[in-house]
Amino acid sequence: LSVADLVDESYRRIGEVEDRVKAFLTLNEEGARRRAAELDDRLGDGEAKGLLFGLPAGIKDNIVTRGLRTTCASKLLDNFKPVHHATVMDKLDAAQSITIGKLNMDEFAMGGSNENSAYHVTRNPWNLEHVPGGSSGGSAAAVAAGEVFFALGSDTGGSIRQPAAYCGVVGLKPTYGLVSRFGLVAFASSLDQIGPVTRSVEDAAYVLQAIAGHDPLDSTSANVDIPDYLSALTGDVRGLRIAVPKEYFGEGIDPAVKDAVLTALKVLESQGAVWEEVSMPHNEYAVATYYLLASSEASSNLARFDGVRYGVRSSEAESLLDVFVKSRSEGFGDEVKRRIMLGTYALSSGYYDAYYLKAQKVRTLIKRDFDVVFEKFDLVLGPTAPTPAFKLGAQVDDPLTMYLNDIFSIPVNLAGVPAISVPCGTNAEGLPIGLQLIGRAFDESTVLRAAHAYE
Ligand code: GLN
Repeated sequence: LSVADLVDESYRRIGEVEDRVKAFLTLNEEGARRRAAELDDRLGDGEAKGLLFGLPAGIKDNIVTRGLRTTCASKLLDNFKPVHHATVMDKLDAAQSITIGKLNMDEFAMGGSNENSAYHVTRNPWNLEHVPGGSSGGSAAAVAAGEVFFALGSDTGGSIRQPAAYCGVVGLKPTYGLVSRFGLVAFASSLDQIGPVTRSVEDAAYVLQAIAGHDPLDSTSANVDIPDYLSALTGDVRGLRIAVPKEYFGEGIDPAVKDAVLTALKVLESQGAVWEEVSMPHNEYAVATYYLLASSEASSNLARFDGVRYGVRSSEAESLLDVFVKSRSEGFGDEVKRRIMLGTYALSSGYYDAYYLKAQKVRTLIKRDFDVVFEKFDLVLGPTAPTPAFKLGAQVDDPLTMYLNDIFSIPVNLAGVPAISVPCGTNAEGLPIGLQLIGRAFDESTVLRAAHAYE
């Protein structure tokens, strides 16, 4: 099997299902075929294979790719072709995967259903009437539909794990600082992380191995040794201590999700893990805290989109101020505008102490809940999301309900720790359910080991 064959198969599958799934925003067919030929030649010359040699990959459209359109699913960046690669793209090139195309998402990664994309909605491959989740919905749908072998997504408040859960695939959010954010279009810089979306835990370990590591171009990148994640996949979880927070099974959780997650816990127990119920009392403030902080950071980060430096400029503008106002008014969608207004308000003088500063303090309390639990336990177990994938259109007019989907994924980003979503069954309609395993900072090995043993 040549790399060209793999790439052919990927585009063949895209041709077969993409008109229904609609996971992609841009295809890279010419570039991918050129690269495949190059890799096949080099192998003929006897060169050693990279870690991800020849594997077809899809990239979320908020990760910049040299010469390949990068829109963040926003009209504002409709014509944006980056002149450089994100660090993760340099790493994928070094590992020799093939970039098949750029994947749909909620605009600027704000949302949980892909319905905030300015281009089209992606559908859940398991049931086309349902959302794929978000914001990395294109990443999860493309992997679930077999269009690519793996995808990269980004996770600010659940955006890798929730769509992975909804689409029945594996999604890993690494520890904050493990994977470089250089070239990831910033949404909330203190929360954003890039991570893999794959069909198996082993694949997630391979992709993480390829993209993790210190990067001088990202000032928050951690300078830590990268372990061999593959050697962590021993299948042995004997003696592993698992905390099960009672707050993760309270009000609002779908009974099918609760059953599936508790059944998964029993499986890990039968494999030799031990567990105890714990309390994480500040969990209930996580959604409010996150939406304040993430919106505040977003309002500042998105100030760079002024119609001058990047992307689309309004043709109606008559003065410089007009360029800013009209380009942004025409370029941003409703959810993005909502966040910018919320964030600007929370950061304004007079409200800063009451909202932004208060939220920062609560963030510390949420992080401490994890610190306390990790003194005694190796992992925290719970559902990834309170329900399976909902129907398209069901929550578009109700941002608050949409925000509540993130209740179990958001505390992880606020604390900066790693977490994985692994499929753990389906509901009566056959829609997938995700099990979430959360680990200590930089202990991806334990997260992967347990997820792999369970899977
Ligand atoms: N649903 C969350 C939000 O809309 C998730 C975002 C993310 O992780 N990128 O903010």
